[in-house]
Amino acid sequence: MLGIRTLIYLIGIGLVVWILLRLSRKADVETRPPQKVGEMVRCARCGTYLPTNEALRSGDKYYCCSAHRDEDH
Ligand SMILES: [Zn+2]
Repeated sequence: MLGIRTLIYLIGIGLVVWILLRLSRKADVETRPPQKVGEMVRCARCGTYLPTNEALRSGDKYYCCSAHRDEDH
C-alpha cells in the first residue's frame, strides 16, 4: 500500500533527480567554451547592428539580410 511516507520518499527522489538534472545542465553550459560574440557590423542598407557571423557580406560591406544586400546594389 502506498503510504504517505512512500509518497514523500518518491517526491524527495524526484526533487533530487530534478536538482541533479538542473545542476548537470548548468555545468554543461559552464564547461562549454564561451561563445565568441565577435565583432558587430552594421547593415549598409538599414544600419542595423548584427554579429559578423550573422551578417551577409558583399565585398567590404555587410548586410542584415539578403533583401538589403540586393537593394543596395
Ligand atoms: Zn538591413
